[in-house]
Amino acid sequence: MPADAPITQDLLTIPRKMPEGALPNLIGLRREAMAAELARIGTPEKQIKMRVGQIWQWIYHKGATSFEDMTNLSKEYRALLAENFSLTRPDVVTRQVSKDGTRKYLLRIAGGHEVEAVYIPEKNRGTLCISSQVGCTLTCSFCHTGTQKLVRNLTAAEIVGQILVARDDLGEWGKPAGDKRLISNVVLMGMGEPLYNTDNVRDAMLIAMDNEGISLSRRRITLSTSGIVPEIIRAGQEIGCMLAISFHATTDEVRDKLVPINRKHKIAELLQACRDYPRLSNAERITFEYVMLKDVNDSDADARRLVQLIAGIPAKINLIPFNPWPGAPYERSDWERIESFAEIVNNAGYASPVRTPRGEDIMAACGQLKSATERARKSAAQIAKDIEGL
Ligand code: SAH
Ligand code: SF4
Repeated sequence: MPADAPITQDLLTIPRKMPEGALPNLIGLRREAMAAELARIGTPEKQIKMRVGQIWQWIYHKGATSFEDMTNLSKEYRALLAENFSLTRPDVVTRQVSKDGTRKYLLRIAGGHEVEAVYIPEKNRGTLCISSQVGCTLTCSFCHTGTQKLVRNLTAAEIVGQILVARDDLGEWGKPAGDKRLISNVVLMGMGEPLYNTDNVRDAMLIAMDNEGISLSRRRITLSTSGIVPEIIRAGQEIGCMLAISFHATTDEVRDKLVPINRKHKIAELLQACRDYPRLSNAERITFEYVMLKDVNDSDADARRLVQLIAGIPAKINLIPFNPWPGAPYERSDWERIESFAEIVNNAGYASPVRTPRGEDIMAACGQLKSATERARKSAAQIAKDIEGL
């Protein structure tokens, strides 16, 4: 790509019209939107607020998959709902379970598109990593998802639906909020750039945080972005979840190559948005993700520059050993290099856990996600050419 090539979203046009015969989905609607739908089918004005609460609890607390299940609604009203609406979730196409317990779900959504979600069980928590787009329009050169050509934004229903199908699979309906839940945390670190789909991500996450929704605390949801600065500001105001930045380089020259959106929003501008992110404190820190690429961004000088750049921002640094994929133009840094980098970061006072790759045997690790049917991958030679031209 020439250096001055515009970075566009280039999304496939999504038909706004519902497919023939499909009923509007009640999943993924915020309260006001659901209230409007219920009013449209003639629900008495006075009952609407209560009905929304009841339906939300059936969907998000109890995992109801049909209106028939909603036994505290009258038979007639259930029938009316079923005539007018659906409760459509993504279909689970395959579920792979890794040796280490990680579960990767391949999900099919409207239009036959596929996305992946990954469940990562840990000692004190369980994290569900969800996708926000089919593919990604950005082309970070180390990321498998970025090589996928086909892209569309997920709807709010498809985003929150990933949590619903994972809860189905893990059998955890009706459990109170908190760390006793198998899915105690959600991270938007799957396929796609969440801040190129901010409205739908916001709606889905507001449902995830709502007490009548999934009831996850704001602090248990982390949104990872490559650095779409204006949208970071909006996410802070409208979502308020935890923020992770895919930082990956300490000079604009290198970051331009690794994370091409950097050509539009430079490191200084990105860090200013981080400094301005609301509610930052020691308890609510920004995570800086840093993928360790051999001989590209992993020197001691890089580590020192990194801590200088983020000085003053309540932060943790998450070092991610590069996860290879077929045709990838990079190698993972050696362990000694990663350790030396981590030591500099630690000595500067930052927690810097090295993210152990999980689910490697099922290609479920960070940046390896890619739909099974979308094989229109650029060739390794094409990727190498693109990088050269940057
Ligand atoms: N688009 C968002 C979220 C999805 S990527 C973003 O870029 O932040 C989630 C994380 O995995 C990001 O930090 C991304 O840079 C990282 N990642 C992508 N490809 C990777 C790879 N091959 N190995 C390790 N980490 C990778
Ligand atoms: Fe997209 Fe994130 Fe991959 Fe970059 S790292 S191509 S923004 S999914």
